[in-house]
Amino acid sequence: MEIRAMQKRVEQIKSALQKVGEMRPGSLSKQLTVCGRPGCRCQDPEHPQKHGPYYQLSYVHKGKSTTQFIQKQMVPMVRRQLKNFKTFKALTTEWTDLCLAIAKEKLASDRQKRKVLSRK
Ligand SMILES: [Zn+2]
Repeated sequence: MEIRAMQKRVEQIKSALQKVGEMRPGSLSKQLTVCGRPGCRCQDPEHPQKHGPYYQLSYVHKGKSTTQFIQKQMVPMVRRQLKNFKTFKALTTEWTDLCLAIAKEKLASDRQKRKVLSRK
């Protein structure tokens, strides 16, 4: 890709980032649990009906991993936030790829220019 095209894509990424809605990092997992209450339906040897589902959000931020419970009615909102964060990450990763490629191209074309100049 040419520098010009890469720079254009960077501009597209910047405007796409402005449209990213509310977000949060992490992944959501669903859990069914067994309690300690004697004779509870969750411990039925033949047809156990476990409690839940309970939703848990896990994420790592600044090297610290965190897990928190998410109330069932909050799950759709959290899913949207997680999706937005994925979009954010994908865009910034692409931007990083592009800035590295642009820097490399610039270095190469600068070397080329100097080579041409030294031949004169
Ligand atoms: Zn139980």
